[in-house]
Amino acid sequence: MKKLVSIVIPAYNEADNIFVIAESIKQVFSATNYSYELLLVDDGSADETLQKIRDYAETADNVFFLEFSKNFGHQLAVKAGMDHAFGDCVISMDCDMQHPPEIIPEMLKKWEEGFEVVYTIREEDTNLSKGKRSSSSLFYKILNWLSDIELEPGAADFRLLDQKVVNVFRNFHENEPFLRGLVKWLGFKQYAIRYNPASRFSGKSKYTLKKMFSLALHGVTSFSIKPLYSAVYLGFTLSFASVLYIPYIIYAFANNVEVSGWASVIMTIVFFGGLQLIILGIIGIYVGKMFMQSKNRPNYIIRSTNLPGK
Ligand code: UDP
Ligand code: MG
Repeated sequence: MKKLVSIVIPAYNEADNIFVIAESIKQVFSATNYSYELLLVDDGSADETLQKIRDYAETADNVFFLEFSKNFGHQLAVKAGMDHAFGDCVISMDCDMQHPPEIIPEMLKKWEEGFEVVYTIREEDTNLSKGKRSSSSLFYKILNWLSDIELEPGAADFRLLDQKVVNVFRNFHENEPFLRGLVKWLGFKQYAIRYNPASRFSGKSKYTLKKMFSLALHGVTSFSIKPLYSAVYLGFTLSFASVLYIPYIIYAFANNVEVSGWASVIMTIVFFGGLQLIILGIIGIYVGKMFMQSKNRPNYIIRSTNLPGK
């Protein structure tokens, strides 16, 4: 029996990419000794994506889709795909050809050697805008500094997971999973492959600067409570600094140097006001996460699928 490889692809407004990615994966597998299934997750696309997937699925018996009831985001789309994949291993990759399918045989080779997680690291991409590159490297610096996991810069959501690992993942019910971090945190035998990203085949990136900032904030706050500690340290430091001010006040009184003091008062109020808001915000994020999780809602909703038995 050939081993089955599941390929999970999240797609959000990727109508023109579906055929291209599906065909190039088909080509890659025709040269290997594995059978594969394609599991496309339509993440509430507003364009023809779902129709294109349906049409393609008609022509093949190993192409399946999940249609989300709305846009739940990239991470949950990948999670949903993994939850419904049957393969001996599951490979997740983007829909836009930025994750070169030609690497798949190399990933499978490492898997056969006994690695349960084969993840990929993107080499510096000279095609990308400077802003995107520096924001991406800043993202990993902040994440590693503030959280307890160590992620390599350029770690991509292009990875192979053994069935064992996928089964562990099925029991995760985080409503905002941060897959890169979770995979690292899981352990198992991991191997990293470096690759050169291609440019997007069609359409444009859905990760705006705003979305990346939110992913960064989310990455940190879902992996670490260090930011809460930073509030305590900051509080101590500032209290100590303000104590140093006392000798000056005594000196000013003793020498009758009546400072009008307006500027310093305003400065202090603004500074501490801002600081308090930031710290309240940090606490708020964690409370919010507990609130969302405590409601125990399903993390994603499937509107339709062609998976057998669903
Ligand atoms: N994606 C998704 N839901 C979203 C945003 C993106 O399923 O809300 C998919 C998208 O279709 C693509 C992958 O996630 O397959 C990566 O997105 P994109 O290429 O826009 O990100 P970038 O490569 O620019 O970081
Ligand atoms: Mg992309």
